[in-house]
Amino acid sequence: MLHIVACIKQVPDTKIIKMNPKTNTMDRASAPAILNPYDAHAVEEAVRLKAKYGGTVSVLTMGPPPAVKAIKKCIEIGADEGYMISDRAFAGADTLATSYALTKALDKIAKLRPIDLILCGKMTIDGDTGQVGPGIARRLDIPPLTSVKKIVEVRREQGYLIVHRKLEDGYEVVRSTLPCLLSVEKEINEVPYSPLPNVLRAARYQPQIWSVGDLDDVDRTQLGLKGSPTIVSSVWAPQKPQGGTILEGGPKEQVKGLLGILMEKKELFQARGEA
Ligand SMILES: Cc1cc2nc3c(=O)[nH]c(=O)nc-3n(C[C@H](O)[C@H](O)[C@H](O)COP(=O)(O)OP(=O)(O)OC[C@H]3O[C@@H](n4cnc5c(N)ncnc54)[C@H](O)[C@@H]3O)c2cc1C
Repeated sequence: MLHIVACIKQVPDTKIIKMNPKTNTMDRASAPAILNPYDAHAVEEAVRLKAKYGGTVSVLTMGPPPAVKAIKKCIEIGADEGYMISDRAFAGADTLATSYALTKALDKIAKLRPIDLILCGKMTIDGDTGQVGPGIARRLDIPPLTSVKKIVEVRREQGYLIVHRKLEDGYEVVRSTLPCLLSVEKEINEVPYSPLPNVLRAARYQPQIWSVGDLDDVDRTQLGLKGSPTIVSSVWAPQKPQGGTILEGGPKEQVKGLLGILMEKKELFQARGEA
């Protein structure tokens, strides 16, 4: 029976988040916290694999106490167990320290039930680095497969899986030994509405929450701000595009408006003898 662990992160909804114009940082209070969209696809894929091959789906997050909500969302999608590491010692972590702390939590989960497969999202919509998944794989000394758009088959007994990795001009078919870590693309699946029994279970569900003292063999110098060599030297918000015309209405009206603009341009070019 497979044991799949999906690593998930709660993020601010960057579609509606506001930037603080003075500090050029995200005003996190201005947007609701959601499950990182790529991670929802990772959890959905884990649930589909469970339906196909049998097994257990666990989710793991490192975050502040409100991140429990993101775990509950994963239970709604169909995850069986949720684990969270939360402690002031983890605060200020860069991707290196984040992957270190998550690896220690994965070691603990593996002692409860050996892990066959770890799924991550391709990236988060707030940090955007895509480094945490490969960072975990490197620390666990297991193969990382990024940009996975399809899992063809998983053969736990034979110890391998086959996936499709997205390339710029197509995809490649890769076979890897198990256990391994996959970072998944959004196109790997569609996340459907959650069935009512899952929603009811999620409402009551309380994940296992561990502090740093609950983890084994932790080198505290590798945690949080202390363990984070990354320095963000400056941050700025990209300039909003100037000019242009915003086309109002539904798709039909917008296409009509666009054709009107193109016709005007065409007439202008013809008048200049350029077309
Ligand atoms: C110097 C520095 C200080 C920082 N201080 C803070 C801070 O104080 N507070 C703060 O919130 N952020 C802080 N950050 C941001 C923090 O480093 C990132 O949020 C975190 O490392 C994840 O990186 P990412 O968002 O780029 O994830 P990516 O690498 O883009 O994520 C890829 C995948 O990894 C998994 N993943 C990522 N993060 C987690 C997680 N936390 N738990 C479980 N799975 C995860 C998910 O599957 C995700 O889809 C800091 C960053 C730097 C550089």
